[in-house]
Amino acid sequence: MEECIFCKIAKKEINAEALFEDDDIIAFRDIKPIAPIHVLLIPKRHIGSVAEISEDDALLMGKLIFQAKRLARELGTEEGGYKLLFRVGSDGGQEVPHIHLHLIGGAPLFEEIRPI
Ligand code: AMP
Ligand code: ZN
Repeated sequence: MEECIFCKIAKKEINAEALFEDDDIIAFRDIKPIAPIHVLLIPKRHIGSVAEISEDDALLMGKLIFQAKRLARELGTEEGGYKLLFRVGSDGGQEVPHIHLHLIGGAPLFEEIRPI
């Protein structure tokens, strides 16, 4: 996956505004934010999407959610609330084929999911 843009961010081959990093994951600001707070959290190891995770990835996925919650608090959106979002595949609207968790907050976010 040499061309994967988020692998390149994980390897520091492309700049991103990192807010958190450890051996396994990195969190950085979305380049085109849709809300005042818009952060992406990714595993450094390439996984294409939620559709490709295995049971062995359960701890890693838990870490992503846990760090999202910590960042939400640090960025001041804990009290107002926020949205955590995984897009999966084309119908899910996923554009970057490296699994990422969106942390979106800082404003009311009621759009997007409506009864059909
Ligand atoms: P998705 O539609 O769930 O695949 O979301 C991909 C997200 O990645 C979009 O919100 C983009 O704005 C964001 N994105 C794409 N390239 C970069 C980049 N180089 N740095 C930060 N965010 C990016
Ligand atoms: Zn990748």
